Amino acid sequence: MKAEIVATGTELLLGETLNTSAHYLTGKLSSLGIEVDYHTTVGDNPDRLEQILRQAIGRTDLLVTTGGLGPTVDDLTKELVAKVLDLKMELDAFSLEQLKQFFARRKAPMPLNNEKQVYFPTGSKILPNPIGTAPGAIIKKNGKTVIILPGPPFEMRPMFDTYVWPELQRIIEPHTERMNERVLKVFGMGESAIEEVLGELMSLPNLTMALLAKRAEMHIRLVARSSQTTSGEASDALDRAEEKIRQRLGDKIFGRDQETMIGIVGQTLRNKHLTIASAESCTGGLLGAALTQEPGSSEFYLGGVVSYSNSVKQEILGVNEDDLKKFGAVSEEVAKEMAAGVRSKVGSDLAISTTGIAGPDGGSDQKPVGLVYIGLATPEGVQAKRFQFYGERESVRQLTVQAALNEVRQHMLNSERRL
Ligand code: ATP
Ligand code: MG
Repeated sequence: MKAEIVATGTELLLGETLNTSAHYLTGKLSSLGIEVDYHTTVGDNPDRLEQILRQAIGRTDLLVTTGGLGPTVDDLTKELVAKVLDLKMELDAFSLEQLKQFFARRKAPMPLNNEKQVYFPTGSKILPNPIGTAPGAIIKKNGKTVIILPGPPFEMRPMFDTYVWPELQRIIEPHTERMNERVLKVFGMGESAIEEVLGELMSLPNLTMALLAKRAEMHIRLVARSSQTTSGEASDALDRAEEKIRQRLGDKIFGRDQETMIGIVGQTLRNKHLTIASAESCTGGLLGAALTQEPGSSEFYLGGVVSYSNSVKQEILGVNEDDLKKFGAVSEEVAKEMAAGVRSKVGSDLAISTTGIAGPDGGSDQKPVGLVYIGLATPEGVQAKRFQFYGERESVRQLTVQAALNEVRQHMLNSERRL
């Protein structure tokens, strides 16, 4: 099955907004084995949009559009799809009711032009929009399927996942090749080191493996192709490959697929009923932000101190003045004292600290840009580790956050092993 994605919106052509929806939708369609042949972006211009829709509907089996469902006159996607497919526009009473309720909940009068949003090409299957005011639609005519989705990604994605995905699963042919994918996430090893360790595993039969460098982690992406009837074999092949990779990389793998470093760390802290605090210098609060990213983080994160200046390190965290003078703020000693200081101040089980030179200035021969110490205070004692990162200021800061979380993860794994 061949597909095409048309994104509408003048802002996309002005470079104001990145067309993330095409990226999202292509990933989803590809994983269903649907081949995406074209991405087109067109402004909110009726003539050009009509031309693009006509061309797309002429040459593809499945057309997915995003944007242009708003209440204003430049929102024309549904009207033009109807025109190209030679369908009338009809009012959908249910959607009108929903729209009225949407405004009633907000205690606001419904502007008249919003009514435009509840007209659809005849025969549409309407896709509710629980977040915004624009429902989407699926229209089938002459063997072609057109899926119309709203522009805002936070409305488009849930609508796609809830309504379009199951529908597509029904309509793709059983013999369509699917991509069964698994991602293993690694921290603390570069691309070439991973490649060296994995060696011949990189070319297992019936499986493709690719290494993708992300800002603060590496992804090993495994793909096994299958039809609906052989999907069991494909997932077995992925399981076997994962096991072999884990034998070689061990704890360097922190998660897979949707799992994130903070998700894993948070979950483990929660399972072990441990609390944590942070003392940050070069990350300026990013570590605290990461630790509070997920709902429910109050179960394990007690709080932190952003101790950017030496005086805050001394006065709030109790870092020793002589040590600051002797070793400098970016040092193993200070990292340890920061972690120990915040732990005793806050009364947490664990405490993590960061101090380093994020750059671009401030480096020296002894302490180059990217030098970071991460301290960890636990009931068993205090330790600090030296890291040398490379890259721009933002990368160094992100890597520091990830490394700090990884220290916490590693500590919990090691203490599990000691038991
Ligand atoms: P409405 O929001 O009124 O339903 P619409 O469906 O046309 O109308 P837009 O107003 O075009 O949506 O877009 C709303 C928001 O979504 C804007 O911030 C826009 O930049 C963003 N957006 C639209 N299309 C895309 C896209 N393809 N990728 C990423 N962001 C997008
Ligand atoms: Mg728009």
